Amino acid sequence: MDSRVATLLSHVRAQAENRPGVYRMLGPAGELLYVGKSVRVRTRLLSYFRADEGEKAAEIIAQAHRVEWEYTASEFAALLHEFRLIKGHRPLYNVEHKKDRAHCFLQLTREAVPRLRVVAQPGGGGTAEYFGPFHGRHTMAEVVRAVNDLLELRDCPSDTPMRLADQFQLFAMKDDPRCMRGQTARCLSPCASGCTQAEYLAQVALARAFLNGGSDRPLVILRERMAMAARRLQFEYAAELRDRAERLENVQAWIVELGRTLRRLSLVYTVRGQGGGEDRAYVLRRGRIRAEVPAPRTQEEQAALEARVRDIFALPEPEAIGLRAQEAQEVMLIAKWFRLHPDELEGTVPASARTGEAAASEEAAEARAELARTLERTVEGPGGEAPEPPNAVAG
Ligand code: SF4
Repeated sequence: MDSRVATLLSHVRAQAENRPGVYRMLGPAGELLYVGKSVRVRTRLLSYFRADEGEKAAEIIAQAHRVEWEYTASEFAALLHEFRLIKGHRPLYNVEHKKDRAHCFLQLTREAVPRLRVVAQPGGGGTAEYFGPFHGRHTMAEVVRAVNDLLELRDCPSDTPMRLADQFQLFAMKDDPRCMRGQTARCLSPCASGCTQAEYLAQVALARAFLNGGSDRPLVILRERMAMAARRLQFEYAAELRDRAERLENVQAWIVELGRTLRRLSLVYTVRGQGGGEDRAYVLRRGRIRAEVPAPRTQEEQAALEARVRDIFALPEPEAIGLRAQEAQEVMLIAKWFRLHPDELEGTVPASARTGEAAASEEAAEARAELARTLERTVEGPGGEAPEPPNAVAG
């Protein structure tokens, strides 16, 4: 063991305690190499010095010039703090949390003649609706292509001139569609008077309903085509359509399930302090932490917390159905926490209930059970990453 590592080891031995917390390994110029968390910081840090050559821990400690740590009130607090540090600093050796770029969203634009597209992030300004997040940009691009073709929506650039059939035209004339999709009945051709605006928007409404889980029209069309292909003995094509239908079903199921999970993750979560840490109360709305305060001990403090909850839930929510990738990761981190620690759900009270009285009520118990069931179906993926729909391929 070289003298620098030996100095780090004696520092840890002399100072670190076995309490929950977050630790940081820093390089020669103070750059953040790695952030980790543990419910027992001392034990975890000492394990780095026993790591075998070739292990990641050995590599990190060989590069480290400083080790720092701070204690948190609980393991849950450590988990959140670690996550936020990693997102904020992107340390070299924390690879699990660096997967934002793999996420994508479906965007339904609010143009006069809307389009359904895959985008990396929801934009601001209310110019579109968003669905997601998803893993697997390539798979989601296929899904969008299938929905667009089945519902005959356009996929051309936003500045493509549109000529709707009900648009005022000085000289009424029928144009040829501007691309092959219009010529092969995969687009209603709003660029060439192929439909009225109302006809086109009716198809957009079907796409929206499909993505909200309220319509299975694209699936019905696919199944009809599949049956037709089978009748014509085009089995290869039929199998391709079946796979496409499965992908669409999985995406739709995933969106519906995500919405359910988010709605149920609106609650007050009281976390018992560990290792001398204080009890804390977290207010979650749609899976995101909106407030963190010391757990109330008196009736006045309880009333203050309830007032805070009311204020938080009185604020309007953005229209997006999905979340930004980082928000989604935090939501899924929390969802995964509850899934791996189901007993912790006992510390939750749905925000819709009056915080104090409802804690023991049947309604609260049922809400916890429902949340547990939803989490079981929704949360996947290691390291707090947002899950992928069952058939999506990680991008
Ligand atoms: S047919 Fe016209 S509206 Fe449809 S995708 Fe092609 S260019 Fe766009």
